Amino acid sequence: FLKGKTALVTGSTSGIGLAYAKALAAEGANVTINGFGDAAAIESERQALAAASGAGASYSAADMTRPDEIAAMVADCAKEFGSVDILINNAGIQHVAPVEEFPLDKWDAIIAINLTSAFHTIRAALPGMKARKWGRIINTASAHSLTASPFKSAYVAAKHGIAGLTKTVALEAATFGVTANCISPGYVWTPLVEKQIPDTMKARGLTREQVMNDVLLAGQPTKEFVTVEQVASLALYLCSDGAASITGANLSMDGGWTAA
Ligand code: NAD
Repeated sequence: FLKGKTALVTGSTSGIGLAYAKALAAEGANVTINGFGDAAAIESERQALAAASGAGASYSAADMTRPDEIAAMVADCAKEFGSVDILINNAGIQHVAPVEEFPLDKWDAIIAINLTSAFHTIRAALPGMKARKWGRIINTASAHSLTASPFKSAYVAAKHGIAGLTKTVALEAATFGVTANCISPGYVWTPLVEKQIPDTMKARGLTREQVMNDVLLAGQPTKEFVTVEQVASLALYLCSDGAASITGANLSMDGGWTAA
């Protein structure tokens, strides 16, 4: 149902972002993916997306800490495919440390990648969406946009920030056929989660199994990780006409975490 539409997904060489790209391509959208990783693996993902969609697929290596590269990524996507109709801000990193020991460079990187990059993509993509009277902006927030956990000060601050940015953009775009929403997953099994296990073991003095069961899934009542496919299916729904009146929402998909 997305034939003729173009989607740009930041941080989509892995995890949730790649699942968004695959779901959008399966509906026939042109897709621009972005993120870091092995060049050959990214190229084969790009080819697979084009094959799945029967439409176009491109890759941008833009670094989400660099406003100039972000602006160029949005402009290149619009130039190649004619428009950016669906923008998914998804790039994100994590660092786990007590606030008084939190490395300054990690704080700056998390705020830049997880929050400020979305400001830059939105300001570049929104004028075209408004002009065409159709657009979908979807930001991957997190359960941490609604609640906090210790040792994640930068991440929680950035995710609360993106929830506020999303609401503001939703109000500004409301009469232009453009919606802006957050998807807020609980723990999803991706490389981002796997990579934070060692630091959490250190910060809390726990074993790997204890971190998985007593920390990560402790607050997730289903006791199951969310899957990347489930997150992507919510994004597809938000792109549908049925979701045209959902805007400014922060949609939880967290196995009941924030209900508790
Ligand atoms: P991931 O590590 O698998 O993917 C992150 C993506 O961002 C990768 O493609 C990576 O290359 C890209 N990226 C990182 N730094 C970048 C930069 N400077 N410029 C461009 N791209 C960059 O992680 P994931 O778990 O799929 O996370 C995706 C999003 O979902 C993040 O915003 C994360 O905060 C959010 N999220 C994840 C979970 C979870 O449990 N995994 C839960 C809630 C929210």
